[in-house]
Amino acid sequence: METCTFNEAKRLVRQLVAEKGFPDDESALGQKLLWAFVELGEAADAYKKGKDWDTISEELIDAIFYILDFIGLVEKTQGVKIDVDRLFLEKWRKNMSRPRQYGQKREIH
Ligand SMILES: [Mg+2]
Repeated sequence: METCTFNEAKRLVRQLVAEKGFPDDESALGQKLLWAFVELGEAADAYKKGKDWDTISEELIDAIFYILDFIGLVEKTQGVKIDVDRLFLEKWRKNMSRPRQYGQKREIH
């Protein structure tokens, strides 16, 4: 089974963007995030319409593509490095250290 880290996936997405001539400058940052939302909407619509899990999952992967594209474009245009694998693991550990159902309770006064 072929595997791929988040950082490798980010590099592959950025390669795709370069080879296919997709928007690749600072002015494209906002639209990358908006397209990620659009892809989430496509996943929700596919689910609502009873499409198969492969179709729904592919829309979710589209959203991940745009998210990784955004992060890679931030790296390129803002001169920063973003280690997505490290960020994922740090966030996972942080969430694992939280109480059960954290963020789900609301005090009603
Ligand atoms: Mg799509």
